[in-house]
Amino acid sequence: MNGKPEEIVSILREEISHYEEKTQISETGSVVQIGDGIATVYGLENVMYGELLEFENGVKALAMNLETGSVGCAILGPEEGIEEGDQVRRTGRRADVPAGEEMLGRVIDALGNPIDGKGPIHTEKTMPIEREASGVVTREPVTVPLQTGILAVDAMVPIGRGQRELIIGDRQTGKTSIAVDAILNQKGQNVICIYVAIGQKNSTVAKIYNTLSKHGAMEYSIILNASASEPAPVQYIAPYSGVAIAEYFMNQGRDVLIVYDDLSKHAVAYRTLSLLLKRSPGREAYPGDVFYLHSRLLERACRMAPEYGGGSITALPIIETQAGDVSAYIPTNVISITDGQLYLESNLFHSGVRPAVNVGLSVSRVGGAAQTKAVKKIAGSLRIDLAQFRELEVFTQFSSDLDAATKEALDHGNRLVEILKQPLYHPMKVSRQVVILYAATQKLLADVPVERAREFAWGLADELEKERPQVMEEIDKTGQLSEAGEQAIRECCEDYKKRVSATWQA
Ligand code: ATP
Ligand code: MG
Repeated sequence: MNGKPEEIVSILREEISHYEEKTQISETGSVVQIGDGIATVYGLENVMYGELLEFENGVKALAMNLETGSVGCAILGPEEGIEEGDQVRRTGRRADVPAGEEMLGRVIDALGNPIDGKGPIHTEKTMPIEREASGVVTREPVTVPLQTGILAVDAMVPIGRGQRELIIGDRQTGKTSIAVDAILNQKGQNVICIYVAIGQKNSTVAKIYNTLSKHGAMEYSIILNASASEPAPVQYIAPYSGVAIAEYFMNQGRDVLIVYDDLSKHAVAYRTLSLLLKRSPGREAYPGDVFYLHSRLLERACRMAPEYGGGSITALPIIETQAGDVSAYIPTNVISITDGQLYLESNLFHSGVRPAVNVGLSVSRVGGAAQTKAVKKIAGSLRIDLAQFRELEVFTQFSSDLDAATKEALDHGNRLVEILKQPLYHPMKVSRQVVILYAATQKLLADVPVERAREFAWGLADELEKERPQVMEEIDKTGQLSEAGEQAIRECCEDYKKRVSATWQA
């Protein structure tokens, strides 16, 4: 070789630049310590916060704590088989999850892998798990209703597409049931539903899967399950994976309903994770950023403006309270983030008022604009009537002889409570809701015995469906109740009452 010094220098330069590139691609570190779903890794100098790492056996991890000399990472999978000194590889990308139409009808884990034994899911796209919520300019106000099919909810706490409505209550008060009913009611509504189970028993999730399949709702639904047996990091990323998949559909202009069941357990998983990462605990041992944890999740629910696709994500987060204490840390956080809450009460639930919606404490801050016109008009006075009834009930509970007016008001209230009861898995169409609400608020049920009020109102709706289908169709189509429609309901009610009233005496 008789090259000039400049040439040698340039060759060396090239080699060096090449050399650096190579090391960047396969930058690795080694495990110093592992346990409880957390690994401390030495090396990985250039790792990013939130970057996906990979162990030798293919298990993934998330870089969460960047410290001088080491990286704390949350392991997204089983930690068995990973040993001290094992190599950890950088992937150079942030955590993501596959997304696509192919996922509909499937049960997946927090990383998007199928867990229902129905074979692999072939998706083409992936979506980043953590993403900034869409900005102000791209959004639109909530104006389109998301019918839950639950009379008490649609009439008094209406939910719109793109809204975030919290379902809050003690354990076993019917929180999950409301969400499941809402999913069932999306049949034929062109809404994709994603049910994210966090920290639940696998058997509970299996039951929900069976319910949804039985009612033909899995066709448009995805269940994402991070059960109680999964390590805390997996439970932590589950809702973000869920909303990432929801965003895939929203970007195509679709409407999505996503349920997070529940965020209390999510907060607990995050607390576990943070404490194991040795982050300092704050109030109730939750880390300081637990508010941001939920706000950045729920902020991703929105309705896009038409020029940005016009899709929407409606979020129904669920929070479990202890002995009805809504002023605890996590409940107050999530109440302040969401656009309203459905407060379910144990007392009501056990006295047979199911769904156990507490009308006084439940509110929907944006849904009013999205409520179906006919329901809005008829149910306008419902909340106040019920509130007055509750007050009157307390006031009169010890007095034996009531005057006629008070008795009538009490009876009216009792009938309202009665018609708002609804069994599981019986979501109602708008037309049925309108008929039942109309009959109750216009006091057409005044001469029906209280305990028969619901049976009668439901029977009346059946009757109208049979005798006057065009009236019902019109209500469903236009969302309005015309004068002719009102007339039809009144006439039908007369006839029906004549026929069934004979059985009331018995
Ligand atoms: P958990 O705290 O365990 O998650 P939850 O608040 O989600 O409970 P659900 O599991 O939805 O409550 O319901 C509890 C029980 O109440 C279930 O057995 C369910 O069948 C029953 N239930 C819920 N809603 C109704 C209803 N509208 N009518 C009759 N039974 C109901
Ligand atoms: Mg539940």
